[in-house]
Amino acid sequence: MAIREGFIGSIGNTPLLRLGRLSDETGCEILAKAEFLNPGGSVKDRAALHIVLDAERRGLLRPGGTVVEGTAGNTGIGLAHICAVRGYRCIIVIPDNQSPEKMELLRTLGAEVRPVPPRPYKDPDNYQKIAGRLAAELPGAVWANQFDNLANRQAHYETTGPEIWADTGGRLDAFVCATGTGGTLAGVARCLKERDPKVRIVLADPMGSALYDWVKHGELHAEGSSITEGIGTTRVTDNLAGTPIDDAVRIDDPACVAMVHRLLHEEGLFVGGSSGINLAAAVQVARDLGPGHRIVTLLCDRGGLYAQRLFNPEWLKEKGLAIPG
Ligand code: PMP
Repeated sequence: MAIREGFIGSIGNTPLLRLGRLSDETGCEILAKAEFLNPGGSVKDRAALHIVLDAERRGLLRPGGTVVEGTAGNTGIGLAHICAVRGYRCIIVIPDNQSPEKMELLRTLGAEVRPVPPRPYKDPDNYQKIAGRLAAELPGAVWANQFDNLANRQAHYETTGPEIWADTGGRLDAFVCATGTGGTLAGVARCLKERDPKVRIVLADPMGSALYDWVKHGELHAEGSSITEGIGTTRVTDNLAGTPIDDAVRIDDPACVAMVHRLLHEEGLFVGGSSGINLAAAVQVARDLGPGHRIVTLLCDRGGLYAQRLFNPEWLKEKGLAIPG
């Protein structure tokens, strides 16, 4: 496929990268799907596209319509690009503790950004609920609702999962992935398990998320917090519900920061915190399984979004974190 149809045509079919140092160190093959190479810069381009196409197909979104979403950033970035191509107005409700780079980028892309104070999900003024209300009040608007709109996981069931299967020739032992909405993990896990039930599905979870305990002990329980953005949650979204998950790994911030900087300085990959969680978890799974296994994970987005945070020694110091070495 030499010529692709614009922005939308260049979403997906990202390369699967073998990470040399991490593979050599573990004796496993550590493979990471380069989702940061999607045209909007993250894995969320896939979900954003499927959500918009699904709303169009169902007649909810018509020419000149509006897409509203509550998002920590990457879905909004994907939606803003797609809305520009399709001629929709795009309104993004975002917790105001998210990185300034993300908000600035969203505005530059033409989205109307509405920062709101972070509130727990059960609060009626949680950013997702504000987005839902806004869409209901605005004529011609749809709420993308990435957390509970199953078009999200369908995107990964139809694209990310089959791409991993094709690129590995169906030879993989484990798929490891952190979740925000759960769309990626749910869609990929279903696709891979259908093809080979022996593929081990492992959830990678930051501190402050309730999913590690949910997988390990069947109880939603959250403790601590994390500097990572876009991942970790305290509820089982509709997208995540029913996902075949075999195990969970918890990764703390120091391990995440260490991995993000290793990825940059040893593998030459400039990626964000969720990629650090994913790779740190992949290494742990490799150690658990022992040498000779093939582990697949994702590099979710680019490091540039976090230049003033994850890659800024001053900011890390304020958080009690340090760049190792
Ligand atoms: N990494 C990053 C950087 C993200 O923005 C997100 C989505 N919020 C994820 C990982 C998790 O993806 P999903 O929503 O499919 O669980």
